[in-house]
Amino acid sequence: MANGGLRNAAVSSPVRRYAIMRVMMLCRPILATALTTTLALAAVTLAAHPARAQDKGSVNPKPLPPLANPNDPHLAAKELFGRKPLPASLAVRSIGFYAKGCIAGAVALPINGSAWQVMRLSRNRNWGHPDLIALLERLAVKAQKVAGWPGLLVGDMSQPRGGPMLTGHASHQVGLDADIWLTPMPNRQLSREEREETSAVMMVRKDRLDIDLQSWTPSHLPVIRAAAQEPQVERIFVNAAIKKALCREAKGDRNWLSKVRPMYGHDYHFHVRMKCPPGSTNCEAQPPPTESEGCSAGDLAYWFSDAVLHPKPPVTPPKPKPPITLADLPAECRQVLLAP
Ligand SMILES: [Zn+2]
Repeated sequence: MANGGLRNAAVSSPVRRYAIMRVMMLCRPILATALTTTLALAAVTLAAHPARAQDKGSVNPKPLPPLANPNDPHLAAKELFGRKPLPASLAVRSIGFYAKGCIAGAVALPINGSAWQVMRLSRNRNWGHPDLIALLERLAVKAQKVAGWPGLLVGDMSQPRGGPMLTGHASHQVGLDADIWLTPMPNRQLSREEREETSAVMMVRKDRLDIDLQSWTPSHLPVIRAAAQEPQVERIFVNAAIKKALCREAKGDRNWLSKVRPMYGHDYHFHVRMKCPPGSTNCEAQPPPTESEGCSAGDLAYWFSDAVLHPKPPVTPPKPKPPITLADLPAECRQVLLAP
């Protein structure tokens, strides 16, 4: 998950830091009370409050009520994109930025694969650019081979037409982001109920200063490394405690560490972000990561500072940002929304 705040992870004032912290918490996958019972195709109600990757969904979600005035220019774009159960049948392309965009011609990651299963089907967020689908399928097999990892549990990707979400992430809007649980796949097919109700496992110690050795295993590093070494992967987001462990454990080639960035949350899952694919001319790239491994004490100090580990609310709470409207998104996203 990532958002505008990810572009400038170095943060200044306490108020700004708190505001960003809030945004990052909001960008975690959250409790979905809804999306679909059948094939994750009916739009549904989502809990209005944010929750986390491990939060549960429902196999019996309630449909979202119709919008009173869908043409209201002040309407949050998430209300529109969150009601689209199927992709736009237009030529495939990712449009805009990871935290302000949409996708045309998205395809679904099959919910069961040879080496993966999709979780929280009720959210209907297993959509993405075909290159992302291919990457996840390849990565799932690669993780088995290099790490003996039984298979990937895949969390949120994008909505069928991308765009802002009613709950959770600020990014995941252009079909190039995917959350992968740090819990290995069981060696059987999970039921619908299990996919909604099984919790991911916390990887970070209670004091937040390091990984929890009860849950972290020698296989976690090679899985994350396999993802980072994919040339099309732009960035990977993990909790700072996980980054710290990777820095400590990585042997041999360490170049891949530069792609792995500390981020708020991401203590139950890691987040894979792809580069803009060829052919997506209106996809807005992120600056490539620097060469640095990001493993020095100085690199990590911010993340283990008291202000980050134990944020205090500012004296004057920041004004909530107005939601992204359709007019805030690239113009092509209107076509994506209106397309059959
Ligand atoms: Zn994410």
